[in-house]
Amino acid sequence: MAEPCIFCDIVGGKYGTKFLYEDEACVAFADVKPMAPTHILVVPREHHPRLQAAAEEEKLLGRLMSVAAKVVKDRDFRVVVNDGADAGQTVYHLHVHVLSGRHFGWPPG
Ligand code: 5GP
Ligand code: ZN
Repeated sequence: MAEPCIFCDIVGGKYGTKFLYEDEACVAFADVKPMAPTHILVVPREHHPRLQAAAEEEKLLGRLMSVAAKVVKDRDFRVVVNDGADAGQTVYHLHVHVLSGRHFGWPPG
């Protein structure tokens, strides 16, 4: 049996999460612990544990970026993928963070 996965559950509608965007490949919803005034997660419907494991999925990865740009419309924003423990990944279902509504420093922490 597959490992339990919180994002698979959310994508499957288990908690009635409000989707800000959805299509046949991915959904977008607000992060439960926002790090900026706007903090949206773009999540593929299919379970891939991390970016490194989905490197061949060019079409899907392109879609995630495209949706990231669409959900924030014309505002300045930052896109983040935490890939692996040292990069800060905590949920092992591929996702793109889309952050906006404040200034972001560089380099990142
Ligand atoms: P990561 O640390 O893996 O890059 O990002 C995981 C993100 O998922 C975190 O920003 C965390 O706040 C968010 N998150 C974890 N569990 C849930 C949940 O049940 N619902 C929502 N909306 N976001 C979640
Ligand atoms: Zn999953």
